[in-house]
Amino acid sequence: ESKRQGGAKVTEFSDALWRQYQRELTIKTELQLALNNEQLVIFYQPIVDCISHDIVAVEALVRWPKDSGFVAPSEFVAVAERSRQIVELNQYILRQAVKQFAALPGNIRLSVNIPASQLHATDLVADVKELLETTGLPSQRLYLELTETELVTDSAHVLNQLQALRALGVGIALDDFGTGYSNLQYLKQLPVDIVKLDRSFIDDIGDKAADNQLTGSILDMLRSLDKYLIVEGIENLQQAEYLRTFNVNALQGFYFHKPMPLEALRAV
Ligand code: C2E
Ligand code: MG
Ligand code: MG
Ligand code: MG
Repeated sequence: ESKRQGGAKVTEFSDALWRQYQRELTIKTELQLALNNEQLVIFYQPIVDCISHDIVAVEALVRWPKDSGFVAPSEFVAVAERSRQIVELNQYILRQAVKQFAALPGNIRLSVNIPASQLHATDLVADVKELLETTGLPSQRLYLELTETELVTDSAHVLNQLQALRALGVGIALDDFGTGYSNLQYLKQLPVDIVKLDRSFIDDIGDKAADNQLTGSILDMLRSLDKYLIVEGIENLQQAEYLRTFNVNALQGFYFHKPMPLEALRAV
C-alpha cells in the first residue's frame, strides 16, 4: 500500500516537472521567435529627484507583447537566464534602449539591467563603447544595473569590464540592494556608484513603527557610504514623504510613474 502511494507521488512529482519543462520550452521557443522578429519592446520607468520629484533618469524594462497584452519579465527573464538566450535578449534591449533614448531631447540618464551572463560571455565594454559612439549619447548619461550575484565575483574578466565601464564614465548601480548579502562593509568595496534599495524595505512604511526604524537605520547607513542612493517601489504619498525626510537622492515607484512605452515617455 505504502509502496503504491510512493509510486503515485513519484508520478505526480514527475508530472509536475514535465509540465514545467514543457512550459519553459514553450516560453523559450516563442521568446526566440519574438527575438528573431524584433518584437520585444522596452518600457521606461521614470526615476525622480527625492525632493523636487523632477525626472532625473529612466529605467529600461523589457516587455514581451503577446495576445494583446504584455508578458512581464518575471515570466520569461528567468527562463531566458537558463541559457544563452538571455545574452541575445539583453544585447538587443541594451542596443534598442540606448538608440531610442539617445534620440530623445533632454539630459536625464538611462539605466539598463545587465544579467551576469552578459558580463561573463560578451565584451560589454566594446559593445557599450560602440553604442555610445554611434548614438552620440554621453557616457555619463548611461548606467548599468547589476545585482549582488553579478558584482560579488572572483572573475577578473568581470571586474576588468566594470572598471573599464567606469573609466568610460558609465555608472554602475547595485540593484535590489538588501535582497542578497546586504553587507554594508562589503558594499563599500564594490565597484558601484549607485545603490538601489529594494522595495521590500519600504513596503510597510507607515504601518509599523518598528519597520520604519529598521528602514531608517539602513537608510542612514547607506547615506554614509557616499553613493548615489535610489529607493525603489514607492507606491504612496506616505512613503514618499518618509523618504523626503531622509533626503536620499532619488525615488522610483508607481506613485510617481509606472513603466511606460517610449511614446508616453515623450509626453511626460
Ligand atoms: P528591477 O530591475 O528591480 O526593476 C524594477 C521592477 O519593479 C520593475 O518590474 C518595475 O515595474 C517594478 N516596480 C517599479 N515601481 C514599482 C512599485 O511602486 N511597486 C511595485 N510593486 N513594483 C514596482 P518589471 O518590469 O516587471 O521587471 C522585473 C525584473 O525583471 C526587473 O527588476 C529586472 O530584474 C528584470 N528585468 C526587466 N527588464 C530587464 C531587461 O531588459 N534585462 C534583464 N536582464 N532583466 C530585466
Ligand atoms: Mg533594475
Ligand atoms: Mg530593482
Ligand atoms: Mg528586482
